[in-house]
Amino acid sequence: MQIPFHRPSLGRAEEEAVLQVLRSGWLTMGPKTIEFEREFASFVGVKHALAVSSCTAGLHLALEALGIRENDEVLVPTLTFTATAEVVTYLNAKPVLVDCEPTYYNIDFDAAHKKCTPKTRAIVPVHFAGMPCDMRRLKEFAEEHRIYVLEDAAHAFPAKYENAYVGTQSSATAYSFYATKTLTTGEGGMVVTNSDELLARMQTMRLHGMSKDAWKRYTAGGSWFYEIVAPGFKYNLTDLQSAIGLVQLAKAERMRVQRQNIAECYSCALKCVAELILPTPNPLAVSAWHLYVVLVNLDMLRISRDEVMLQLQARGISCAVHFIPLHYHPYYQQSWGYALGDFPAAEAYFKRCISLPLYPEMTQQEVDYVVTNLIDIVKANRR
Ligand SMILES: *Cc1c(COP(=O)(O)O)cnc(C)c1O
Repeated sequence: MQIPFHRPSLGRAEEEAVLQVLRSGWLTMGPKTIEFEREFASFVGVKHALAVSSCTAGLHLALEALGIRENDEVLVPTLTFTATAEVVTYLNAKPVLVDCEPTYYNIDFDAAHKKCTPKTRAIVPVHFAGMPCDMRRLKEFAEEHRIYVLEDAAHAFPAKYENAYVGTQSSATAYSFYATKTLTTGEGGMVVTNSDELLARMQTMRLHGMSKDAWKRYTAGGSWFYEIVAPGFKYNLTDLQSAIGLVQLAKAERMRVQRQNIAECYSCALKCVAELILPTPNPLAVSAWHLYVVLVNLDMLRISRDEVMLQLQARGISCAVHFIPLHYHPYYQQSWGYALGDFPAAEAYFKRCISLPLYPEMTQQEVDYVVTNLIDIVKANRR
């Protein structure tokens, strides 16, 4: 059996939605994107949503609109994808890396506290694997230090904390619609906010710094006139992508429940395996279940995490590692002075983590196959 790490849930409805846009003659940002933004905002329960070409673009726009600039410091977890920190450097600000907590692997607020200086302007928490971070603690932390919160919700659509969707509590929140994420448009993203001012700035900067609604200049009622009011970016989403997004949005909760069911199957089948540490449930949150990460207890095994993954791969099961902590990478070491040993919790996590295949259309047979083989490998290599 061959089990890919991810398979997107795309069907006839997405195909027809794309065809409809192709036949309409309007391909780029237009009516479908406006509709996608409205539907997304209403789903999350937030005032504004702005469709963008990626989550990275959304994070960049939000930080720019918040006024982050040269020499500012922004707190970012080391356990994330480089996009979270890279956007800080776009603005010539400094990404200040922070360790993770040992339960959900989200940003550790005690560690973050120690990294605060008078230059700290914002924190960008990542809801790791789809599990929201402690939102009360996050709010208190931001108030105490008088800094902005920009949530990196690339893993967290749709996730809830105390019954509210992630994305309603902070200055702004960015989502990813990359091919492997929980809602996909191939490439794409959304940034949401309750602030009219932030929206206005992000809207302008999304499209070349053009005055509002300039995208309409090619429509029948649109005006040819526009003004460039800032040196903006090219970060818009196309109607082709938004059409897919609308179909995906309508089934987002159904897909989340499917992933949750698979995650529960994994947890149920693996809970008696002492060599494996499983995701911890959080009674206050609903995870988006973007990833199902198991940690291998290396003290109880004769082989490394890499060897476990190789053996899974040999049996046709593709797994992944999320993530190589940022301070392992040459860029963050050479340009920002980080080194191995700086973040013990993230390092302990990284040496042991394996992301198992998880996607809505994974069959029971496939889940059983993963479970059986993982248990097999572990048993054969007990110390
Ligand atoms: C995928 C990902 C991103 C980037 O998303 P893009 O849409 O590809 O820009 C940012 N942060 C995290 C944590 C991610 O996993």
